[in-house]
Amino acid sequence: MSVINITGLILAGGRGTRMGRVDKGLQHFQSSTLAAHVMQRLAPQVASVAISANRNQAAYEAMGVPVWPDELAGFEGPLAGLQTALRRCRTDLLLTAPCDSPFLPADLAERLHAALLAQDADLAVAVTMETDESGERYRRVHPVFSLMKASVLPQLSAYLDSGARRMDGWYKSVRVAEVLFDDNAAFRNINTLGDLKDMEALAARAAQPAQHQPGGAGYTPDAMPVEQAQALIRSLVQRHAPAPLAQRVGLRSALDRVLAANIVSPIDVPAHDNSAMDGYAFRGADLLPDAPTTFKVVATAYAGRPAAVPAGPGECVRIMTGAVMPPGLDTVLPQELAAAVGDGRVTVAPGSIAPGANRRFRGEDLAAGAPALRKGKRVSPADLGLIASLGIAEVAVQARLRVAYFSTGDELRSIGETLDAGSIYDSNRYTLFGMLERLGCEAIDLGSVKDDPDTLRATLRQACEHADVVLTTGGVSTGAADYIRQIMAELGDVAFWKMEMRPGRPMAFGRIQSGGHSALLFGLPGNPVAAMVAFYFFARGALLQMMGVDAERQALPLMRARSAAAIRKKPGRTEYQRGILAADGQGGQEVRITGAQGSGILRSMSEANCMVVLHASQGDTAPGDMVDVVLFDGLV
Ligand code: AMP
Ligand code: MG
Repeated sequence: MSVINITGLILAGGRGTRMGRVDKGLQHFQSSTLAAHVMQRLAPQVASVAISANRNQAAYEAMGVPVWPDELAGFEGPLAGLQTALRRCRTDLLLTAPCDSPFLPADLAERLHAALLAQDADLAVAVTMETDESGERYRRVHPVFSLMKASVLPQLSAYLDSGARRMDGWYKSVRVAEVLFDDNAAFRNINTLGDLKDMEALAARAAQPAQHQPGGAGYTPDAMPVEQAQALIRSLVQRHAPAPLAQRVGLRSALDRVLAANIVSPIDVPAHDNSAMDGYAFRGADLLPDAPTTFKVVATAYAGRPAAVPAGPGECVRIMTGAVMPPGLDTVLPQELAAAVGDGRVTVAPGSIAPGANRRFRGEDLAAGAPALRKGKRVSPADLGLIASLGIAEVAVQARLRVAYFSTGDELRSIGETLDAGSIYDSNRYTLFGMLERLGCEAIDLGSVKDDPDTLRATLRQACEHADVVLTTGGVSTGAADYIRQIMAELGDVAFWKMEMRPGRPMAFGRIQSGGHSALLFGLPGNPVAAMVAFYFFARGALLQMMGVDAERQALPLMRARSAAAIRKKPGRTEYQRGILAADGQGGQEVRITGAQGSGILRSMSEANCMVVLHASQGDTAPGDMVDVVLFDGLV
C-alpha cells in the first residue's frame, strides 16, 4: 500500500563493527543482499526510496536509488543519516528502516501513517511487546522504524547540536505516536553472522503457506482491524471536523434534522389538571368507604370547554377526556364503572375507584423551563409533535452536511448510455444517494469518473472545494488502472487500509485539501455491496458525528437474534453477511443468511433486511446460536 508523500530511508550508514566490519546492508542474504531485501519490502509502501550510507556508495547506488552520506562528519550514528535525509527529501514525510531488518512489516508505512494522522503527531514509531529473560513483559520501542514529518528537522538539529546522539533522545521535543505491532519477528535485525543464519531459517519457514490463527491478532499481519479503523476515524473527525453551523427552520422542515440547541419548554404540559377518562369527576373525600355513594350531576366539562358551574360537596361533573378538572375535584370515575346512572345522578359502588384516580396533573409531561429535547437529537415525527405541543414554530438545527460523491472506473456507464462490451451501469452512485439522503446530508453527485489521473484529480479537487466530506467508490485496491490512491495521497493526508473484514477490504480515509478548503475523505471499495458495508460501518458514524448527532446515537444499534442455520466463518476478521430477520414462530426472532454473499451481488443486499455482524473473534456459528444483527430499517 503505497502512501505517496513518503520517502523511505534505508539506514545503512553504520560501521558494522559486530559483523567484523563488513557493511551490513551489503551482506549476502537469500540470494541477494540485506539492503535489497529491505528495499523490496519498503518500496511498495512509499513514493521513493533513498539510502543513508557512508561506505561502499557505488554498491548502494547500483540499487538504483539516491545514496545520501551523512553531512555530519565521523560516523555519528543513525541520527546523522536522518538529519541529512530530512534536509534532502522532497516529500512531507520520511519513513526509516534499518538495512538489516529484511522482514519489516508490509504495513509499516500505512499503520504509522494512520497513527500520525489520527494522533496529530510529528513522529510515529513502532513498538512491540517483548518478554525479557525473567519472563516480564515490556514495551520495546523501535526508533529506527519511524515515520516523521520533514518539518521536525529543526528539533533534530537542535538535539544533535547539543552533542547528544541517542536515537530516541530527541523525542521529547516532538509529538510522538506509538504504534503497537504484534508481528515481533518483523522488527528483528541482524547484528551478527549468527543472527544472519537464524534469519535465513526464519525466512524459510515464513515462505511456507500461512496457517490461520484463531483470535484475531496475527491473522493477516498487514490488515487493519475494524474497531481500530473506527476508533481512528472517530478521533480524526473529533480533532479536525469543524463544528456544524446552526440555522433556524420552520417546524416541519426540522424533520430528520439535528437539533442545534436544547428545546426548553416555555409552558407546563399539560397546562391544567385534566381528566384522563370520559366519566364523572368528584371529590375523592366524598366517597363512602362501605356503602354506595350517589353524586348529583351539576355540570358537564368538555375538552376545551370547562364546566360552567362549580361542584360542591356531594356533587359531580360529567367530564370528557382532556377536559380541565373543575376546581376542588380530584377524582374521575370512568363512565363504564358507574354502578347506576339516571335522573341526574350517578352512583359509585364502594371500592370501585381510588380517590385521586384518572386525574392528569398540570406540568406532568413537562414543566415550564425543563428541556423537552436535547441538542444533538435527530428530530423524529414524535419530536415534531412534542415541539408543536409546546407552541414552538421554529427550531435551531444544524446546517446540512455537504457530501460530494463520485464513482470511478472506466467500465462504468450512466443510465441511458449503451452498454458496450465489458461495461456496467454505475449502481454505487444510486446506493450512495439513497444512504446519504436517508442520513439527512446534502448529497452532491459528481458523476462517474474514468480512471484518468487528470479527471480524477480535477473531480477530487472540485469535491473538496464544495463539500465537507468526499466519498468515492472504486479504485482503492491495487489495480493497475487505479490512479485514485495516488491522487488522494497527493492532495492530503490519506491512509490506505486493508480492512480485516469481509466484504470490503480496501479503504482509504483521511483529509484532503484544495483551494484553501479541506474535506474529510472516504475512499470506499468499488464492489457494490462492499461499498454499502463500508458506508454503514465506517462513513455513517463519522457523518453523524460531523452532523452534530450526539455520541450515543452515532453507533449502529446491534440486536441479538437466533441463527436459523450454521454459518461458516474464519476467526480473525469481521464479516458482515446479508440476512433476513423474521419471527421464528415461537415468539422469538430468527435470522437466516440470504444466498450468495459475493461482494458484487446487490440483489442479496436488496433482499436482506439486516446485516449479520460476525465479530473478528468469532468462528463458525452453529444452528440456534445467538448472533448480532443490524436492522436496515431505520438504520440511516
Ligand atoms: P474497484 O474497487 O475499482 O477495483 O472495483 C471493484 C469492482 O466493483 C469491479 O468489478 C467494478 O466493476 C465494480 N464497481 C466499481 N464501481 C462500481 C459502481 N459505481 N457501480 C457498480 N459496480 C462498480
Ligand atoms: Mg475500478
